[in-house]
Amino acid sequence: MHFTGTVYRNPYWPTWPLLEITQGCTHNRCKFCTMYRDVPFRMSPLEWIEEDLKELAGCDPDARTIQLLSANPLALTYEKLEPILVMINKYLPKIEYIYASTRVTDIRNKTVEELKKMKKLGVREISLGVESGDDPTLDRINKGYHAADILEQCHKLEEAGIDYWMTFLNGVAGREHSREHAINSAKIFNQCKPMLVGTGGLTLFPGTPLLEEAERGEFDPLSEKEMLEELKLFVENLTCDCSFITHHTISGVNLTGPDFLAHKEKIVAALDREIKNGDLDRMAAIRRSKRTL
Ligand code: SF4
Repeated sequence: MHFTGTVYRNPYWPTWPLLEITQGCTHNRCKFCTMYRDVPFRMSPLEWIEEDLKELAGCDPDARTIQLLSANPLALTYEKLEPILVMINKYLPKIEYIYASTRVTDIRNKTVEELKKMKKLGVREISLGVESGDDPTLDRINKGYHAADILEQCHKLEEAGIDYWMTFLNGVAGREHSREHAINSAKIFNQCKPMLVGTGGLTLFPGTPLLEEAERGEFDPLSEKEMLEELKLFVENLTCDCSFITHHTISGVNLTGPDFLAHKEKIVAALDREIKNGDLDRMAAIRRSKRTL
């Protein structure tokens, strides 16, 4: 198999087979991320993709799922994606679900008709690293789009029938803008129909512009308690009929599950308990020990 540089795979999807159709990230400028800093974006050569598919077909000819790599493989135009999707179906004829993580902006270069064709070829579920629905926060972290783009592109996915996840990055607005980040993100998410909302807690990794800003006193990170308070505010304002997961380092509380609305009160109560009695020092130690997204 051809795997080059950093490989990110969504751990909630079947983690095998994986197929690298692109390398790196087209954007590579989010202030909290260094994951692909040294990997220029490019499409994998078609010969590599075909060789990998032959190898996968040899190992598991009945594969029903596959996850496309790397950071944002759907950045490719429909014209470039179509032959790859056709090839996947040729070598793995039982394929049902083609998964991919990708950027909101990657949907812009596709029409709804093209998205529908992608769905017919197996692209059934994608994950959008949205991070925030608050424009000043999106600008602050250099995401490269605004809330209006999120709505426009998510509505195209809905029209095409492609299921999608949305992520909220807890803590990324810092102390100054935390409240607006939580409330305005929920407002934007509520106008979409994600099958799942996922939340992750910000870690300031070495080499990230956001850590450098924090060291210069230009970014004021939230404490663990403030992170939980922001997450609670986001959850209280969220009304999406979806599943919900969190990567937050919360000790002993399971905030993962289907049917968010039915469990919303329990999630808010669990967050309240953590805010009052959680082992915040332990959470901070876990966060400090992380080395990558
Ligand atoms: S967070 Fe995602 S979109 Fe932003 S630079 Fe990292 S890989 Fe690229």
